[in-house]
Amino acid sequence: MNRDSDAPKPEFRLPHSLWRPYCQMKTASPPIEVESTNGVTLRLKDGRELIDGISSWWTACHGYNHPKIVEAIVSQAQTMPHVMLGGIVHDQAIRLADRLAPCLEGDGNRVFLSDSGSVAVEVAMKMAMQHWANRSPNGKTSRNKFVSFQNAYHGDTTGAMSVCDPDDSMHANFKGFLLDQFPQPIPETDEQEASFDLFVEQRKDQLAAVIIEPLIQMAAGMRFHSASALQRIERVCRKHDVLLIADEVATGFGRTGTMFGYQQAEIAPDIMCVGKGLTGCSVGLAATIATAKVYVPFHSERWEAALMHGPTFMGNPIACAAANASLDLFETEPRLEQVAAIERTLRDRLEPLAECDDVNSVHCLGAVGAVRMKDEVNVSKAVSGFVEQGVWIRPIRDTIYLAPAFTISHAQLGKLCDSVVQSVSRVGAV
Ligand SMILES: *Cc1c(COP(=O)(O)O)cnc(C)c1O
Repeated sequence: MNRDSDAPKPEFRLPHSLWRPYCQMKTASPPIEVESTNGVTLRLKDGRELIDGISSWWTACHGYNHPKIVEAIVSQAQTMPHVMLGGIVHDQAIRLADRLAPCLEGDGNRVFLSDSGSVAVEVAMKMAMQHWANRSPNGKTSRNKFVSFQNAYHGDTTGAMSVCDPDDSMHANFKGFLLDQFPQPIPETDEQEASFDLFVEQRKDQLAAVIIEPLIQMAAGMRFHSASALQRIERVCRKHDVLLIADEVATGFGRTGTMFGYQQAEIAPDIMCVGKGLTGCSVGLAATIATAKVYVPFHSERWEAALMHGPTFMGNPIACAAANASLDLFETEPRLEQVAAIERTLRDRLEPLAECDDVNSVHCLGAVGAVRMKDEVNVSKAVSGFVEQGVWIRPIRDTIYLAPAFTISHAQLGKLCDSVVQSVSRVGAV
């Protein structure tokens, strides 16, 4: 149907129609084709096997194809693959919400289900804003802005993008299109806390909430901050009565060594977003958990005070069944002990790399070990070197990191560490 002049020129032709994420497809090396997964390995179409060091964007906490999760999915698919959540509820969603509600302090918490981490963040932002609107006599609020942090990543939808680092190359193209928010440095010292405090105080009439990824900003390339920085942020939020949102989409479910990162700082977020590991690397699902304090102004005679959100596939029964099976595994298997053992190995093996000339710093926490180089890493070159060694490791910018499944064996983790150690010298030479 194309006129000749519209026909794609040969250089636009690619082997398939998939539009790949964050990828310049003209110059990118061809993606590796995976045929199946099992445990912590990816089996490629050409028969090779790779030990996975990054567990599919940090989601595979129990490894791939965990039989309990697969069983839960199959059995739920046979009973009821999907039903809308408008006017209807079902056991899997109720059970999951009842299990996620206690993940924040206090009684009477509420859990809102959605499909992806980005949407969980959008919902958290809408909750925070509408919380203040519902509390005002005329139902309106000027408190519709957010304080976020440098290097933050909260997702790819527009609200979530607006609280990402504004200078980040991921979303820089959309700068003019996005809402202006208030990105700040993470306060690590008394002095920084004082200026953060002043900043929030001067804008508190405009602020709905502060949003932070507790302990590790993973998507930015594993940027770490201290538990005391989280305490400083919480202190300022409480002082000026601003809500605190913990985005635990990446850090939740054991990744940092505790079930949630915020627990290491002993703070009490008002809202928490979870996603990624929630279904144990099987189906997309996310949740926004709100404390009773956040929820109360929504509980009203007025219809307009209800939370105005409702994704079509929210609370999908298959996804909820997978999440319930994943939470069962956290209860019945020693996941956090496994994470602690992984942390010890990562420290033993990776921390000595801090001495290398090309290495800026090394940080290990929970099942995350990150070697930050002084320069950006040539990612495609590094990845092909890793694939040749039989491992799947994909650096982010200047950081080569491991974030394996918690079920990884000592030998497999050893092989991943060997590959990182070898590549640090090689990458440095590039
Ligand atoms: C990945 C991520 C998101 C977005 O989740 P999606 O499921 O990709 O939409 C949000 N916040 C953090 C901290 C993330 O790491």
